[in-house]
Amino acid sequence: MRKIEHVGIAVKNLKTSNLLFEKLFGNPPYKEEEVASEGVKTSFFMNGPNKIELLEATNENSPIAKFIEKKGEGIHHIAFDVEDIILEIERLKKEGFTILNEIPKKGADNKLVAFLHPKGTNGVLIELCQEIQ
Ligand code: ZN
Repeated sequence: MRKIEHVGIAVKNLKTSNLLFEKLFGNPPYKEEEVASEGVKTSFFMNGPNKIELLEATNENSPIAKFIEKKGEGIHHIAFDVEDIILEIERLKKEGFTILNEIPKKGADNKLVAFLHPKGTNGVLIELCQEIQ
């Protein structure tokens, strides 16, 4: 795993939170994207070298809707940049981690992504992401 690629924050209302984070960082999101398969609408901010992803549920079965129901708004996941997501999944499986999707899927912002079950990582949802070339 290389650097932190982004931190994902679950929000109830993307529009409202976009304005809030625009005030916080001094610049608007550089991208908004819906990932229909995940039931989320996302926006991405750059603040210096740091990337923040905001996620809003688009339906009640969305993982984000369930997260907010249980825990409220807040940090949802930490994403790490990986060079080869397949190799990294294999390595982490051997180390005993549970991968939620062993076949990487297309995520937002031009990435292949896979998630580790938070039960095996002290309650933190970890996303692996590899830039699609
Ligand atoms: Zn993410």
